[in-house]
Order: sequence, then structure tokens, then C-alpha cells
Amino acid sequence: MGWNLVRRGAEVVFIDAGQPGEGVTNWSFSWVNASNKTARKSYFDLNVAGDEVPVAFYPDEAWVHGRHLVGRLVGQAVASGAEHRSGTAVCDIGTGADGSIRTVALSDGSCLDVNIVVNAAGPSASHIAGLIARHLPMRREPGVVTRIRCAQVPVHRAMHAPAHRDPS
Ligand SMILES: Cc1cc2nc3c(=O)[nH]c(=O)nc-3n(C[C@H](O)[C@H](O)[C@H](O)COP(=O)(O)OP(=O)(O)OC[C@H]3O[C@@H](n4cnc5c(N)ncnc54)[C@H](O)[C@@H]3O)c2cc1C
Repeated sequence: MGWNLVRRGAEVVFIDAGQPGEGVTNWSFSWVNASNKTARKSYFDLNVAGDEVPVAFYPDEAWVHGRHLVGRLVGQAVASGAEHRSGTAVCDIGTGADGSIRTVALSDGSCLDVNIVVNAAGPSASHIAGLIARHLPMRREPGVVTRIRCAQVPVHRAMHAPAHRDPS
């Protein structure tokens, strides 16, 4: 979103408590599939039939390296004039009497004059919303992502084994 705003001429400051793409994005599968599960009935049926399909192969779908993608987009936005403040957290958001956004206070003690805040704080988004008394429901669910190193990558496409079962 930041990259697209910069391209349209907006003045953008990226504020990140960490480094770009190192939040949930760094631990996602990043399988580019989310929007079309209900667009085609055959694909929807395949998802529903998951338990009967040992391995599903999706030749038309892709995988992206989330952290590299985010880093590159932020880099391009900065090259086009955006400002990037990493390692700096948003601590407070100031509003005017009419409720409009006016300022953002940062963990380094500085304060920015702004008129729009895009809340992209991942699992902390509900905390950011709470700074202006908004309720953003988030549910924390623990999960495990495994990364395997191997000399040669044998699989070059997204695959899914929905019928995984514990052999014991
Ligand atoms: C296991 C797993 C698998 C997934 N698989 C897929 C998939 O296959 N396809 C798909 O499309 N999606 C997938 N997702 C979902 C996807 O990864 C997330 O929706 C996406 O990465 C969220 O990005 P984000 O930028 O909103 O959050 P994040 O990547 O978490 O970024 C939030 C950023 O906000 C910063 N931040 C937090 N608090 C503050 C603060 N107070 N001030 C300043 N900065 C702050 C953090 O430092 C962080 O950099 C998956 C998620 C998981 C967990």
C-alpha cells in the first residue's frame, strides 16, 4: 500500500518497530492462492474434498518470498521519495477535536504531523487501533512453520497434503 501511495504522489513515512517484512510475513507460507478458492467450483470442491486427496498439485499458483518482497517494495518507495523509520515503534496517535488524525508519537521521542495512518502492524494492529479507541478484533493462534535446508530443491511448485495424519 505504501509503495502504491508513493507512486500516486502521497508523502509516505514507513514506521516499523522492527525491519520490513520480518513480522508474520517472514513466517508465512506466502502461497499466492487466497482469493480464488470460491471463484471456481472445481477448486472449491477440491478444498472441501481435502481429506480424500493425498497430495494436491497447483501448477498455476506461485510462492513469494515475503520478506524479500516487502524489503524490495519499501526500497523502491524510499527511492521514490518515501521516508523509512525502522526500529521505531508507534507509541501514540494524536487526534483533533473533530476526531481527525493529527500526529504520531514514536518510541525515539519524535512526533510526526500526519493526516492519515495506515495500520499494518500485523498481530499488533489491535493495539494500534486501540490508540484511537478503535476495537480491532484479533485472535492469536500459535502455529509451527518448518524450513528445511537442502543442497538441491526438489519441489519447484506449491503442493499441499491436506490429508496429513499422524502415523502413530
Ligand atoms: C503460518 C502462516 C502461513 C500463512 N500463509 C499464507 C499464504 O499462504 N498466503 C497468504 O496470502 N497469506 C498467508 N498468511 C498470512 C500472511 O502471512 C499475513 O496476512 C501477512 O504476512 C501479514 O502481513 P502484515 O504486513 O499485515 O503483518 P506483519 O508481517 O506481521 O508486519 C507487521 C509489522 O508491524 C510492525 N509493528 C508492530 N507493532 C508496531 C508498532 N507499535 N509500531 C511500528 N511498527 C509496528 C512489526 O515490526 C512488523 O514489521 C500466513 C500466515 C501464517 C502465520
